[in-house]
Amino acid sequence: MEVKQESTPAPGGGFSVSVEETEKWMEEAMQMAKEALENIEVPVGCLMVYNNEVVGKGRNEVNQTKNATRHAEMVAIDQALDWCRRSGKSPSEVFGRTVLYVTVEPCIMCAAALRLMKIPLVVYGCQNERFGGCGSVLDIASADLPNTGTPFQCIPGYRAEEAVEMLKTFYKQENPNAPKSKVRKKECLKS
Ligand SMILES: [Zn+2]
Repeated sequence: MEVKQESTPAPGGGFSVSVEETEKWMEEAMQMAKEALENIEVPVGCLMVYNNEVVGKGRNEVNQTKNATRHAEMVAIDQALDWCRRSGKSPSEVFGRTVLYVTVEPCIMCAAALRLMKIPLVVYGCQNERFGGCGSVLDIASADLPNTGTPFQCIPGYRAEEAVEMLKTFYKQENPNAPKSKVRKKECLKS
C-alpha cells in the first residue's frame, strides 16, 4: 500500500480521544496526583496511553529523589521507554502514537521533553500559571522551534478545579502557618 507523503502533518497527528477515554485515564492520573500529595510531593499525576494501553505512569518524585527534574511526565517517559524495550517496539513509533494525560499543564521543561519525544497529543487539567509550557508562561507546545521535536496539540481544562484544589492543599502544607509548624511553636512555648 502506498502512503502519501504529507508535507506538514497537523499538530496532534490527527489524534482524537473520546470522552469515555478521557474520563477513564484522567481518573487514573488524578489518583497518581493524590498519591503524590500523600507523599508530600507537588500533586501532579500523569499517564501515557498507547493503543489503549498504559505504557507509562508517573507522579512527581522531586522531594523523594531530591532531583528537581523528576516531574510526573519525566517519570512516565522513562517508564514508556522501558515498556518499549520490554515489548521490542521502536520508541519513536510508540511515542508518536501516544496520548499523555496529566492533571496540570506541563511545565516548560516537560513540554520541551514531550516535543522532543514527539508525543502528538496532551490532555491536561488545570493551567500552570508559574511554569506552564503550553501557553501559560511560554508556548513550547506549538512554538516554531527548529530542530526541537514536533509541536503537539493540547486539550486543556479537564477536571481543572480538582487539580487546583490539590495544588492548594499542597501549598497550604508547605506554608509556615500550617499545622505542623504550629505544633513546633507550641513545643517551643512549653520549653
Ligand atoms: Zn514538568
